[in-house]
Amino acid sequence: MALRVLFSAAEVQKRVEELAGQLASDFVDTELIVVGILNGAAPFMMDLLRLLPTGLALRVQYDFVDATSYCGRESRGTVELSRELSVDVTSRSVLLVDGIVDSGRTLDTVVTALQKWAPAEIRTCTLLDKPSRRQVAVPIDYRGFEIDDLFVVGYGMDLDGAFRGLRHVAVVESSSEDAE
Ligand code: 5GP
Ligand code: MG
Repeated sequence: MALRVLFSAAEVQKRVEELAGQLASDFVDTELIVVGILNGAAPFMMDLLRLLPTGLALRVQYDFVDATSYCGRESRGTVELSRELSVDVTSRSVLLVDGIVDSGRTLDTVVTALQKWAPAEIRTCTLLDKPSRRQVAVPIDYRGFEIDDLFVVGYGMDLDGAFRGLRHVAVVESSSEDAE
């Protein structure tokens, strides 16, 4: 197995800065609640929050939900929500953040779960999007990069728990030796 850099740490940071700028202009005077999907969204969401201008940063609240669907490189197909929100999102604007959208099931499940609290709106944000893998149509309002059907790690994304701490995004490539 080998790792090939797909987006360098500098490329990731530049794009996150751009997304934070977009959020700053879209959520002027909004009491925004940012909700991250554990564990993958954490580094991306924290960087996004730290790049918000003071005016919005003063008002923002954040929380996490936990949704798990993957085992190794394969989706198990069903998504379970195993952590509920601790902030009240009723009548508030929610920005739901994940690191990557693949089939769309995770994001769709969490959007549906949050709707029962009747937020004013739910917008979605992902660093990486694999549109060719989509099974469930879920709107994405803020997107860092579109990528092909590749399995990536780093910047929150893992392979069986490893590689989440990388500052860049890499593609996992299996070498011929892996089969031996
Ligand atoms: P979906 O539910 O959209 O199929 O997948 C979303 C979740 O699957 C993400 O939150 C992430 O945990 C995982 N996932 C999807 N694609 C990848 C990938 O290429 N690499 C890693 N590490 N996780 C992925
Ligand atoms: Mg995840």
